[in-house]
Amino acid sequence: MGLGGPARVPDTARRPLADAPVSSSPQSSPGVLYVVATPIGNLGDLSPRAREVLGAVDLIAAEDTRHTRQLLQHCGLNTALTSMHEHTDARKVGELVERLAGGESLALVSDAGTPLISDPGFALVAAARAAGIPVVAVPGPCAAVAAVSVAGLPTDRFAFEGFLPAKAAARRARLQELKAEPRTLVFYEAPHRLAEALVDMAAAFGAARRASVSRELTKRFETTYTDTLGALAERAGQDSDMSRGEIVVVVEGESPETQRTVGGDAERMLRILLEELPPAQAAKLTARLTGARRGELYERAVEWARK
Ligand code: SAM
Repeated sequence: MGLGGPARVPDTARRPLADAPVSSSPQSSPGVLYVVATPIGNLGDLSPRAREVLGAVDLIAAEDTRHTRQLLQHCGLNTALTSMHEHTDARKVGELVERLAGGESLALVSDAGTPLISDPGFALVAAARAAGIPVVAVPGPCAAVAAVSVAGLPTDRFAFEGFLPAKAAARRARLQELKAEPRTLVFYEAPHRLAEALVDMAAAFGAARRASVSRELTKRFETTYTDTLGALAERAGQDSDMSRGEIVVVVEGESPETQRTVGGDAERMLRILLEELPPAQAAKLTARLTGARRGELYERAVEWARK
């Protein structure tokens, strides 16, 4: 990717870079914990500052050391690595904080994107903060922010929801809690659960809500699909390409406008389904996809059938 040869070790990496705040400590100066974002698929997105810090710190705490070793090799770096994943125990966190307190500098990275964003690192950052260690952000890629930036949905306020529960009942319960959320919602989703998650979202929020599905951001097959939840759910059930790779779903929040359109959309969907299905089945499916009341839909379907 042409990121250059071996890095010089800048003395800037031993202190907070770029005027970052330094908290005062009663003991001799502690090191710095750098929270470093790494690419989410395109190595060209590693910032020069991230590369500089990764080359200069005493130790890198990585989610998967083999994965990060490859990134370092790509950059011509050979910094020492230690693992820091979601099962890392308090003792290891304590040891790292001791090293920081003793004056060593550490970088925290995850496999991709920004550490702590649906990724490990919270325990270390919280412990470092509690110990008065300076914690400095080296910001960069984050799939959630990238997806929001291209979705074409309101960005003035958005809520990051991370991964929904894997089990259907828990996922539906969580979506019900979010039904009236006015902010744009951002979800990470596993490819094999995309289709069912979109069906559940359409049922909870109404099929007419606008949404986007971004897959493989920054990579060769990057695609963003934008449509209503109903249409996206339907497409995900038919188009296997849509659920290939890594995925972020962005859904517009509830507003008087999204509430109003649900009735019309449910009606339209019911009419289409009635062309192929008996009233009970069409009403059941429409209710699932739009969140409209099944009984009312059935009554309407029977009424239409009589005409
Ligand atoms: N810390 C990461 C970040 O800053 O985005 C997220 C880590 S989380 C374990 C991994 C999830 O992020 C994936 O399952 C997917 O939902 C999303 N993701 C990561 N890379 C992506 C990409 N290139 N395109 C779309 N979604 C991505």
